[in-house]
Amino acid sequence: MSDLSDLYQQVILDHNRRPRNRGKLPTANRVAHGDNPTCGDQCSVYLQLEGDRIKDISFDGSGCAISQASASLMTTQLKGKTAAEAEKLFKDFHEIVTSGHPPEEISDVAAFAGVHAFPARIKCATLGWHAAINALKGDPVDATTETHKD
Ligand code: ZN
Repeated sequence: MSDLSDLYQQVILDHNRRPRNRGKLPTANRVAHGDNPTCGDQCSVYLQLEGDRIKDISFDGSGCAISQASASLMTTQLKGKTAAEAEKLFKDFHEIVTSGHPPEEISDVAAFAGVHAFPARIKCATLGWHAAINALKGDPVDATTETHKD
């Protein structure tokens, strides 16, 4: 079991060291921002939605290791998926982090099953996912002309 935990920890460490799809997406037509004030995590998600499908996705943000690794992993999970598939994946992920039951097949998202033991961190783990779903449901925007609020 400890080997498995190590493996899972490696997934989170790896996404922290080498975040995937990080940075603003110039071609994005959907953007949403998520905030987790209790931990100080922030996450923006950029989507290039083509019809019903996420053609490209990126995130940008700052915060704890769990929030950033989860957002990075989320982008790899949602890229190429339809809106309905993305919502299903989020439901599954939410189930994993709240119940602690990983899916039967070993997958990278199972790395976050351990989060369920730390209820305060569940918001960290789901922050990027919430932003992605909000971006999917939001109005079209032109990310290239988005004004910086900071
Ligand atoms: Zn956090």
